[in-house]
Amino acid sequence: RDEVNIISGALELKKKIVSEVMTRLEDVFMLAYDTILDFETVSEIMKQGYSRIPVYEGTRSNIVTVLYIKDLAFVDPDDNTPLQTLCKFYQNPCNFVFEDTTLDVMFRQFKEGIKGHMAFVHRVNSEGEGDPFYETIGLITLEDVIEELIQSEIVDE
Ligand code: ADP
Repeated sequence: RDEVNIISGALELKKKIVSEVMTRLEDVFMLAYDTILDFETVSEIMKQGYSRIPVYEGTRSNIVTVLYIKDLAFVDPDDNTPLQTLCKFYQNPCNFVFEDTTLDVMFRQFKEGIKGHMAFVHRVNSEGEGDPFYETIGLITLEDVIEELIQSEIVDE
């Protein structure tokens, strides 16, 4: 019975796409590249409780790197370290996927070693007069995909 549920959950992944289960950009907790890691900022980061925080430059849709909470281990808030200093030292890469990627493909990519098990979701924006451009619309983590597996398990009970 459990095996049947897991298999049907896995089959469901083929029918869903990344944009249906991602966290939308406006709901993502991010930091600006020019942030100073003072006491207030570090407290806010800890309060939010996320293990990875996208870092943007200029506008929120322009994500340039990711800060891992563990990167803060040697940071003393009294030093007022610029976030830039950490970003340049760790250079954590960003992964991008298209919004219409199905969850089975996404799951495989996470397994095959997308670093940090987080990816940013891209869309081609061809509205308006100008040339089409890539737009970042959210983020997805391995947990979002696994949640879908488990949900279909529960529904099937
Ligand atoms: P964490 O390790 O930070 O708890 P998970 O990978 O377990 O992150 O994801 C938990 C949920 O939080 C997922 O729905 C994911 O999309 C979302 N999430 C992860 N990082 C952030 C962030 N920086 N801001 C907003 N939501 C996030």
